[in-house]
Amino acid sequence: MVTVLANATRYAEAYALLDGLVAALPAVRDPPTRQRIQSNAASLYAQAGQIELALRYADQMLAAADSDAIACQAQYYRMLALSQRADGAFEAGYPEALARCTQANDGLYANSIRVLAAERYLDHKQPVAADAALQRHLAEIDRIGYPALSEEVQATLARIAWAQGNGERARALALQAAKTGSNSVALIAASQVLYEIAQTKGDAADALHWYIRYADAEKGHLNDLSARALAYQQIHQQVQEKKAQLVTLRQRNQVLELQRTVDRRSRTEIELAIALLLVVLGSIGLYAWRTKRSERKFQKLAQRDGLTGILNRQHFIERVRAELGYCAKSLREACLIAIDLDHFKQINDSHGHAAGDSALLAAVAACQRHLRSVDLFGRMGGEEFAILLPDTVPERAADIAEAMRAQIVALGDAPDSPGFPLSASFGIAAARVSGYELQHLLAHADGALYRAKREGRNRVVRHDPATDPGADGPPQGFRERRKATHS
Ligand code: GH3
Ligand code: MG
Ligand code: MG
Repeated sequence: MVTVLANATRYAEAYALLDGLVAALPAVRDPPTRQRIQSNAASLYAQAGQIELALRYADQMLAAADSDAIACQAQYYRMLALSQRADGAFEAGYPEALARCTQANDGLYANSIRVLAAERYLDHKQPVAADAALQRHLAEIDRIGYPALSEEVQATLARIAWAQGNGERARALALQAAKTGSNSVALIAASQVLYEIAQTKGDAADALHWYIRYADAEKGHLNDLSARALAYQQIHQQVQEKKAQLVTLRQRNQVLELQRTVDRRSRTEIELAIALLLVVLGSIGLYAWRTKRSERKFQKLAQRDGLTGILNRQHFIERVRAELGYCAKSLREACLIAIDLDHFKQINDSHGHAAGDSALLAAVAACQRHLRSVDLFGRMGGEEFAILLPDTVPERAADIAEAMRAQIVALGDAPDSPGFPLSASFGIAAARVSGYELQHLLAHADGALYRAKREGRNRVVRHDPATDPGADGPPQGFRERRKATHS
């Protein structure tokens, strides 16, 4: 396709296509395909005046040549490129190039190289050497019968004859070379010779005729060359532009990549900061929770009795006052039970203080079995306790107290009993009768308890407003009342 496009003088397309082929060349493994790309590149670049490029592909082709035919072809392209250079590289490479093509028995390429050599001899004003290069091979060239080659040889021979002063022979050869006019290189050389001969003869009309043909041919040839060069430059420019765009894109990509890395880093930093913040917040939370917990622990300690774990006197009084306040507002019934263990001093005296302590614990546990979560249970001091039962009528309170009493007595018979009989006395007062003042309730419950002690202990007694004192007078404390009983 590259060849077809070039032959049709569609150079821009030809060079664009060639450029793609050349770019793909490193990936092409098939030797014949590689050779075809390289030979096309060497030929087209040479014709566009890109000598270095042409040499590169000719040399590649030569280095990989696996036959004399390929080596000869590569040598021809080398010579075609070098013939455009003024240095001695052409002359240096000429013998080797000719040898390869002779070896390959390729007359067309061998003689094309000879023509190139003869032209250079002529350019250097060495017509004898030029003649020597071609003379012995004329018969062979005739035999090959390739018109373009034959015309170029004839034109070169015409130049040689003219340079040697043989006008007649030069004119005959030049006329032959210019006959078809299809080979521009041959036509230029031939018409130049014919113009110079006519001018020397003084034949102005003939001279003008050949000068015009020379000028036309040369102009056409130069146009063709510059069209090729222009097409190459154009494509080369586009390729460079694309490369530059690629570089810009790559750089932009790098910037984006960098940006991403920075984003990622700052995200990591933010995540770290959040994590740190969470740790700090967590620590503060934990600290606050611990503080609160120990605060609660201390609060509980301050509100509870150290031995039995139930409410201590002070906190019991606070809680009961509050609860009685609620009950008073809605006129709900509430009962207070006062409890005192019987003959506890004796237990301590005969079994020891530790046994007394465990008897206290056992009695408290026995009472707790009959309490609801809303009920309040407090240790009022020593072996004296009090219970507030909200929303409970006195009959029910008496039943509960009776159950507690029986349970305490049963402790003495239990398998894990402390080993001595235990009992308690109970006094009950009701808010509907005694009022919602704790002071009065306590006094009345205490009064009933006093009566229980007096009547023989180990029993439950309800406050009776008709018989029990204390409703109006100042209430007696447990201790005062107890001392009174003993005395
Ligand atoms: P009463 O039947 O009349 O109530 O006789 P009592 O012996 O129980 O009465 P009193 O109030 O004279 O004695 C109470 C005793 O309880 C005095 C004390 O030794 C004992 N006591 C008070 N608190 C504790 C305690 O925490 N542990 C022990 N082991 N004994 C205690
Ligand atoms: Mg007592
Ligand atoms: Mg007692």
